[in-house]
Amino acid sequence: MKEIGHFIGGKLVKGASGRFGDVYNPATGDVQAKVAFASRAEVRKAVEAAQKAFPEWASVNPQRRARVMFNFKGLVEKHMDELANMLSAEHGKVLADSRGDVQRGVEVIEFACGIPHLQKGEYTEGAGPGIDIYSMRQPLGVVAGITPFNFPAMIPMWMFGVAIACGNTFINKPSEKDPSVPMRLAELFLEAGGPPGVLNVVNGDKEAVDAILEDPDIQAVSFVGSSAIAQYVYAHGTAHGKRVQAMGGAKNHAIIMPDADLDQVTDALVGSAYGSAGERCMAVPVAVPVGEKLADALVQRLRPRVESLKVGPPTDPDVHYGPMVTAAQRQRVIDYIDMGVKEGAKLLVDGRGFRLQGYEKGFYLGGSLFDHVKTDMQSYKDEIFGPVLQIVRAKDFDEAAALPSKHQYGNGVAIFTRDGDAAREFASRVNVGMVGINFPIPVPLAYHTFGGWKRSAFGDINQHGPEGVRFYTKIKTVTARWPKGGVREHPDFLIPTMK
Ligand code: NAD
Repeated sequence: MKEIGHFIGGKLVKGASGRFGDVYNPATGDVQAKVAFASRAEVRKAVEAAQKAFPEWASVNPQRRARVMFNFKGLVEKHMDELANMLSAEHGKVLADSRGDVQRGVEVIEFACGIPHLQKGEYTEGAGPGIDIYSMRQPLGVVAGITPFNFPAMIPMWMFGVAIACGNTFINKPSEKDPSVPMRLAELFLEAGGPPGVLNVVNGDKEAVDAILEDPDIQAVSFVGSSAIAQYVYAHGTAHGKRVQAMGGAKNHAIIMPDADLDQVTDALVGSAYGSAGERCMAVPVAVPVGEKLADALVQRLRPRVESLKVGPPTDPDVHYGPMVTAAQRQRVIDYIDMGVKEGAKLLVDGRGFRLQGYEKGFYLGGSLFDHVKTDMQSYKDEIFGPVLQIVRAKDFDEAAALPSKHQYGNGVAIFTRDGDAAREFASRVNVGMVGINFPIPVPLAYHTFGGWKRSAFGDINQHGPEGVRFYTKIKTVTARWPKGGVREHPDFLIPTMK
């Protein structure tokens, strides 16, 4: 059986802890590899390798660092098919979607190629007589990223792309469910000219995460995953003196106004709720039509579309989505569908019984559609993270618009309307971090910044874009005086002011 170890100091190393996890092929249900779970001592080795590489990497001039990123971008593009196949084989998302996962990561690398411009400081000439003030953005040192299973290419690149371009050295702790792509990215980074130790990967579970959070030589930790773990990582990491950004779960709503183009809305909802089997933090699992008439018309359109969703192996170019990542994830979604039924929501399409001929052991789940979901139901309050769309009917715009603002999660939200006033007002008022207007998955591009509000993110600084540069650098401000005719001879006991 294939064994996946770690990537430390520019080398593939075998796991030494004796602990392993199973990596499944979700399409067939078979275990296809064993992934090593790092001990504290193995995490420490990665920290030492990253520490060793830091001084030299930090002193490489920004243009040269950018060139390494540029080479890396080219290599990732060259290996796109290999990476996408590897990704689909462990995650289960369809191949075209895996390419999208890699591509969204490449876009952050493209952004990071602009680091000579992004990392520039500020300068004030003549802040006082003979006085100039300037600031510089310096890297933090060794930083770490703990990443989820659902975007094993994009999310590591969100983090290490910016961190490394800024001059930091990096340790990625990927999801134990699909570790192969992050490992391959580290190899490609080395091939691109990245010095050994600049990008390391340690695989593992809570033991590796705790070792990262408690290591005194790691300066900052970026996390993306579920909210309970995000909150833990934030609390534990900051208690150990680290800068932490921790992105969590989501329950994104789409508000549908009576003037919206219903065909466009139906396409948008089907794609965003069921694409990637609903395993996206920017999926739209809640539709909120305004008014009973609109709700009936929407249900009439949605129902046949959900009934005819094509589910199958990720290599089949005709399927809409592939299997769930693990049997446990599939069962979790089924439990939520059971819960919704018990709570009294109307299950219009039931995907629980779906079986794929020839792939009986695969983790497939049909699409499910609920109507008449109420806001006091637990199945509405929680993130389900599967191919399930819940319709919550609202009587008017105010009632609809209040729902995402009141929900515990605040990652993304969308409004579908032709009314510019309503859309503008909604975007301005809603208590959610990322807003789509006639746009179902408003994931900001790499040169903007990604982050939710409320229980969707812990910490203050978002991922990538200018915020990413802020997260991975610290600012130093220099006040310099070059007095004419020498330094004053008498001391000044007062605080200097500009009065
Ligand atoms: P997860 O929280 O189970 O795992 C995330 C990471 O934490 C993994 O590396 C995992 O190994 C580690 N981990 C798991 N249990 C841990 C524990 N007890 N202690 C310490 N570390 C632990 O998340 P997941 O299932 O991999 O990913 C899906 C979740 O991620 C969903 O909730 C989704 O909404 C969220 N997500 C959020 C964003 C965002 O930007 N807000 C993006 C993608 C995914």
